Amino acid sequence: MNKPVHHLQTLAVHAGGESDPETGAVVAPIHLATTFQHGPAGERIAGYEYQREGNPTNDRLRAALAALEGGAQALTFASGMAAISCLLETMEHGAHIAIPDDCYTGLRVLAEEFLPQRSLRVSTIDMANPDAVRKLSREGIDLLWVETPSNPRMKISDIRTLAEIAKANGALLVCDNTFASPALQRPLELGADIVMHSTTKYFGGHSDVLGGALVFKQADESYERVAHRLHVTGATLAPFNAWLTLRGCRSLPARMAMHCANARAIAEFLSKHPAIERVNYPGLPTHPGHEVAARQMIDFGGMLSMELRGGRTAALSMAGRLKLFTNATSLGGCESLIEHRASVEGDKPVSPQNLLRVSVGLEHVDDLIADLEQALG
Ligand code: PLP
Repeated sequence: MNKPVHHLQTLAVHAGGESDPETGAVVAPIHLATTFQHGPAGERIAGYEYQREGNPTNDRLRAALAALEGGAQALTFASGMAAISCLLETMEHGAHIAIPDDCYTGLRVLAEEFLPQRSLRVSTIDMANPDAVRKLSREGIDLLWVETPSNPRMKISDIRTLAEIAKANGALLVCDNTFASPALQRPLELGADIVMHSTTKYFGGHSDVLGGALVFKQADESYERVAHRLHVTGATLAPFNAWLTLRGCRSLPARMAMHCANARAIAEFLSKHPAIERVNYPGLPTHPGHEVAARQMIDFGGMLSMELRGGRTAALSMAGRLKLFTNATSLGGCESLIEHRASVEGDKPVSPQNLLRVSVGLEHVDDLIADLEQALG
């Protein structure tokens, strides 16, 4: 991009957004074609052949994601889970992968059920404890997966330290940056090799588009392997979804600033409420990961969880009394959502029964606090 860009907000507005060379339209066109004309011997005319293998709208989004995360290349997928699966499927048989003890349920299920079928060894570990990770890495490690802040307990892992451990052991460090977004945290600058996103969340920003992404620090062999597998296995992001996600990039930093301000005020309110046993929000000085979060994040995000006094019954009845917060899964949209995680984690829930996860939206914070107050009684 030939524009004088010095700040992430500016990049978010302009990345992948060059005017359409054909019409001058200042908003990217959506290219829906599944196939592109080529020469008689398959010579590519404008670089494209078939939508599964490449599409101009997807390429604009990939350019924007790579720019925002400070990576060399990005790949986009039909969902966050498609991105995770495609990457992990490129690991050699017998590889040792470590995942966090608190992470998105889909990764945990994939790691427990599917990866062992491919003879991958999976260890579940407290990524917020570097000594435990160091100890595990003595057994030989090929990939460290970090999710920080983690879903749903908001644990904070030190990306820089984990990158040092990964490097010393010849392992890849992959960071799920969904909760923070590059507006708040840039793992590649802290030493990670690959950043993963469920773009369904803050990038999309409006709870209306599914998608996933991987951003690679270098256009290296890992990138080539994953790109090839995506082209062949086909979990491609549809052009319209790429376009909606690109539109989401434009307002990402502005939205994140307000998500953070609202979440901070709510976390402070909840932490003083007698019905609440514990608030998990890294912006609170009492959070065990606060210092690391303050070092590696620009702000603390729009996600939090709370643990209520009175167990499962208290949590469910509070969630049922809320009027502005919608009981729904997912996160990162304009509307505030609340969810009893244990209820949606399938047969073997791991989240505490008294825990409610909150995606703090963009409503006025006084209205949100008033709703929480009435629901807490
Ligand atoms: N990573 C995190 C942290 C998530 O919260 C989610 C979904 O909630 C995913 C990955 C999976 O993304 P998707 O739902 O787009 O497949």
